[in-house]
Amino acid sequence: MTGILYVVATPIGNLEDMTYRAVRVLQEASLIAAEDTRHSRKLLDHYGIRTALISYHEHNEQARAEQLIAKLTAGDSLALISDAGTPCIADPGYRLVSACRSAGIEVVAVPGPSALVAALSIAGLPTDAFRFVGFLPAKAHGRRQLLERLYAERQTIACYEAPHRLLASLEDIREICGGERSIAIARELTKRHEELFSGTVAQALEHFSGGAVKGEIVILLGPAAETAPIGTVTERLQQLREETDLSWKEIVKQVAKEFGVAGSDVYRESLELRHGQ
Ligand code: SAM
Repeated sequence: MTGILYVVATPIGNLEDMTYRAVRVLQEASLIAAEDTRHSRKLLDHYGIRTALISYHEHNEQARAEQLIAKLTAGDSLALISDAGTPCIADPGYRLVSACRSAGIEVVAVPGPSALVAALSIAGLPTDAFRFVGFLPAKAHGRRQLLERLYAERQTIACYEAPHRLLASLEDIREICGGERSIAIARELTKRHEELFSGTVAQALEHFSGGAVKGEIVILLGPAAETAPIGTVTERLQQLREETDLSWKEIVKQVAKEFGVAGSDVYRESLELRHGQ
């Protein structure tokens, strides 16, 4: 009889968010694979769970997966946890789960907290469909490229962001998606300084500009309006230049209005375009 791999969600800040089933499964497992064993030991101690821990993180995923598969094949049932929330959601685990499935080993979810779902559940933005893109790229170029691909998305866009990059990301969002777009920013969910900001992108910038932003953050960007133009600001500038007799000044004004972004930002884009031609 092979063992079972239990993928167990753990709290994202509030220890009371542990489920009864999660405690029992972790107690009964032969071994718990955890991202950071020292970090997880504190959670396990809190619940009096004495099960041994083994590290499983992005740097040893491949080698460790083979070891864990060998234990499962020998009949041991194991649990997989991450530092917080649901494993595999912007966290390690996918390779192990995939390897278990390929090896015919049963994988069972022990569901619980996830920052993504918690934020969506309280933001008041459409949740019938949403698009999760994990962490926004840390570098401005990659982030802007991603936002240009996403800005016309008709679903809520969800992403994780580091606090020290929030303002830079909001600036890029305003430039590419428009200052009037709805946004919700969930900070420190389930913790003492929990905050849910909800408003427009321009208001969010104003709200968070006051001082250093701290804590863990989920950004939810509302869907683009049905009337939102398809394509990027640059593409629209190019299109109007080719298809109309409007001057650059008029084109910039029109594109800024269509996209709901600052005229100065569109003007800068138009200069790049003109220099490139
Ligand atoms: N697997 C986790 C989950 O299911 O939520 C996410 C892991 S990811 C490495 C960590 C990121 O999730 C943080 O940087 C932050 O963006 C978000 N996050 C985690 N806990 C949070 C919280 N309490 N409030 C807001 N965002 C949180």
